[in-house]
Amino acid sequence: MNRLFSKRRDRLLTYQAMREGRIASSKRTACPACGAESANRDWERNVQVCPQCGYHSPVGAYYRLAALLDPGSFQELEEKLEPADPLEFPGYPEKLEDLEEETGLRDAAVAALGSVGMHKAVFVVLDSRFLMGSMGTAVGEKVTRAAEYATKRKLPLIIFSASGGARMQEGIFSLMQMAKTAAAIQRFQSRGGLYISCLTHPTTGGVTASFASLGDIMLAEPGALIGFAGPRVIEQTIGETLPEGFQRSEYLLEHGFLDRIVSRDQWRPVLIQLLGLHEGGKRS
Ligand SMILES: [Zn+2]
Repeated sequence: MNRLFSKRRDRLLTYQAMREGRIASSKRTACPACGAESANRDWERNVQVCPQCGYHSPVGAYYRLAALLDPGSFQELEEKLEPADPLEFPGYPEKLEDLEEETGLRDAAVAALGSVGMHKAVFVVLDSRFLMGSMGTAVGEKVTRAAEYATKRKLPLIIFSASGGARMQEGIFSLMQMAKTAAAIQRFQSRGGLYISCLTHPTTGGVTASFASLGDIMLAEPGALIGFAGPRVIEQTIGETLPEGFQRSEYLLEHGFLDRIVSRDQWRPVLIQLLGLHEGGKRS
């Protein structure tokens, strides 16, 4: 494992653990879903999935990459890409600064070149700790450049989404990212590139309505909320009660939106198998 990677990973694992109160409580942490307490080392061993009920606790972008990639294969792409404030939205630059300090991220997406089981690919991971993983100009540009990089190098593209949608503070410029990212994915796919979209809790709004739904293969973690508008908004709009489990991974699999549900410990074997089947990063 290269030095930069282990340093950054350690730093972000610490942030992640602090945010979720795992360091303060030192030994055991209660699951927000089932309430059962488990030893922190068991949470760690389980890649932050509750050892009792299987609840998938949100994880940061670097944490996910650390758990997924072959050791030493991580190479960050477009690391210096910075968020913009095109509308001069009040308090936005300060908020971005605070979040950078808190999470170690420049914005809500990390792009990287890496390998899984020796299969090289381009990865983008959204991080919900940064303004709910929302897509502003920097996130949209990073996804676009990652798709272009994958097109040029003829590598598969794998995106892990976790997002509240388009970023309010960048208004119309955020909405434009939907068309931009969708076009970049389209160009990549039309040249035969394989795009695997991996949805995690929650993936909503403009991210669902653009690149997250365009995968050649659509995968999701168990229990993830995936949709455009939230269930409450839909219920108020249509004046009806929604079916149980609506907008959750299991419901979406049953209704044909997803190809498979992948629990967190299965990402590596599943991706290794898929990339092996699509040798050379080709869709077919
Ligand atoms: Zn639990």
